[in-house]
Amino acid sequence: MNRNSIRSGARSADVQAALGYNGSGADPDMRVLVVEDEALLAGQLADALRQGGYVVDCAADGERAEFLGQTEQYDAVLLDLGLPRLDGLTVLRRWRDAGLAMPVIILTARDSWHEKVQGIDGGADDYMAKPFRMEELLARLRGVIRRAAGQVTPSLRAGAVCLDPRLSKVTLDGTPVKLTSHEFRVLSYLMHHSGRVVSQGELTEHIYSQTFDRDSNTVEVFIARLRRKLGASFIETVRGLGYRIGADA
Ligand code: CA
Repeated sequence: MNRNSIRSGARSADVQAALGYNGSGADPDMRVLVVEDEALLAGQLADALRQGGYVVDCAADGERAEFLGQTEQYDAVLLDLGLPRLDGLTVLRRWRDAGLAMPVIILTARDSWHEKVQGIDGGADDYMAKPFRMEELLARLRGVIRRAAGQVTPSLRAGAVCLDPRLSKVTLDGTPVKLTSHEFRVLSYLMHHSGRVVSQGELTEHIYSQTFDRDSNTVEVFIARLRRKLGASFIETVRGLGYRIGADA
């Protein structure tokens, strides 16, 4: 199989096998917006990201992308530049003008230097020229998410709790703690935003894709379970505002 297989009609599992995806390298808790008007490629990207544990939304045109970026919370965006209705560079500039700081990786079929320069000048954090290897894209995605969280090392630490986003592992005083995927998402989000209050709504936005049924009460359930596993005082409740980890950080 060659590097172009992601753009062929190959099935997603075949594509991932061909691209060397091993299922253990992605942040398992992050919410990503995929903006791509080529339906086949968008579907393959979404499949690969979901199998890597990301929560994924898709937009097939620039107006939809701008809307979702303005109204939903994303940990990163993959943004195609050539889009119907509104081009990717304009979408990116409008997001940045609106003060939205989520990391953005631009995707372009045209491997032209001036598009990359325009993209970076327009506020992109990284770029990928199509066709690309899914492995490389996932690595760059992890990189921009980590840098956005102000983390230079892959592991996140808060008190006695250590979380490895790449391996989906959590330890308490060095002892592994078993978490469900939703518990892990909640914990990881709080730890990525250590020191600040995160509202229940924001957590709900983050752990469920927009197409899923949302019930904010479940966040309380996950918090309760996390406290049982990690210690009652590890996650602080800030009355009327939300939850916080590492207030002293
Ligand atoms: Ca396009």
